[in-house]
Amino acid sequence: MRVIYLDNNATTAVSDEVREAMLPYITELYGNPSSMHTFGGQVHRKIEVAREHIACLINAEPEEIIFTSCGTESDNTAIMSALESEPRKKHIVTSRVEHPAVLSFCKALYRKGYKISFIPVDKKGRLNLEELESAITDETAIVSIMFGNNETGVIFPMDTIADIVKSKNVLLHSDAVQAAGKIPIDVKKLPADMLSISGHKMHASKGVGALYVKRGTRFSPYIIGGHQEKGRRAGTENVASIIGFGRAAELAKEHVLSDDTTVDELRDRLEKGLMDTCPGARINSDREYRLPNTLNISFEYVEGEAILLRLNEHNICASSGSACTSGSLEPSHVLRAMGVPFTAIHGSVRFSLSRYTTKGDIDSVLDKMPGIIKELRELSPYVQNA
Ligand code: PLP
Repeated sequence: MRVIYLDNNATTAVSDEVREAMLPYITELYGNPSSMHTFGGQVHRKIEVAREHIACLINAEPEEIIFTSCGTESDNTAIMSALESEPRKKHIVTSRVEHPAVLSFCKALYRKGYKISFIPVDKKGRLNLEELESAITDETAIVSIMFGNNETGVIFPMDTIADIVKSKNVLLHSDAVQAAGKIPIDVKKLPADMLSISGHKMHASKGVGALYVKRGTRFSPYIIGGHQEKGRRAGTENVASIIGFGRAAELAKEHVLSDDTTVDELRDRLEKGLMDTCPGARINSDREYRLPNTLNISFEYVEGEAILLRLNEHNICASSGSACTSGSLEPSHVLRAMGVPFTAIHGSVRFSLSRYTTKGDIDSVLDKMPGIIKELRELSPYVQNA
């Protein structure tokens, strides 16, 4: 039975083109890109081509791209680099709805004595820009604000955020792991100093990421050792994954620039269909500023996990929060920050589409969900006690 995969914010399928690009580098072309011989040199050249494609995706220069092992490493590196470059400054500004790659890292830094300001969001998940502005002080080493939210898809107004942060002369990092490849990003227009991206969210393999560091930004490496990545990130490169990541970025750029609106049309079809057929449903997001592939929807008085299990019986994959928080029964920190009522937080489901999602996939979900919700609601102790 075909899997209906609607969990693309957790990870994506490696596309055929990416797999093809990677294959020679896990088989016959195994040379070390740092070697002097031609066998290694040809690998080195392919890594540089991949770097050009990643740069092109966000309109950066190739030398502004550092390959890392994942989005998490890129996020940690950006923040640590800012702290190490200006050791006098001990304050970080971030938001309450960041991915744990930023949020948990900041909490760990707090325990080491750094000061952290967590900027709140409103009920649509929009950042409080006045609080952002007033939180920045002379002590602030870096502001790290995500581009697009992994759970709700809310897109933050990065241009305005950049204006605020730059007017205070502070470094700006953005976790663009979910946004890159889904919406256009142009670092020539957006004055962010650093930006994180990850391969496995855009149909490349897992275990590869990149950090954009604007030319002229003071940078301190996080992983220290050999001279790879011009001394900015040591460790023998994950060659095949980097080459696949380059190909994935090339394809993502074509997709972002094309007029193909299938992904948001299908997402909207799913959203409308569920709202029309499932009573007590509510959208957890800003409907205007949202990643085109993401739908976070709550079904009041029903457990999200129970919905996922029922969907799973029909081979439909979705999620009840970020991949990292699902698995624990902790309610989503993002939905809590948005003030979503308790009865709705627990009934939240995230559907995240990709350019490979079909109308048939969406219609299967629309076919199954009303029955699932009705059945679970009848079993719900909350409804019986309400
Ligand atoms: N940032 C965001 C917004 C994410 O959604 C994720 C992964 O879900 C990450 C960072 C971490 O990326 P990676 O899995 O490549 O470490």
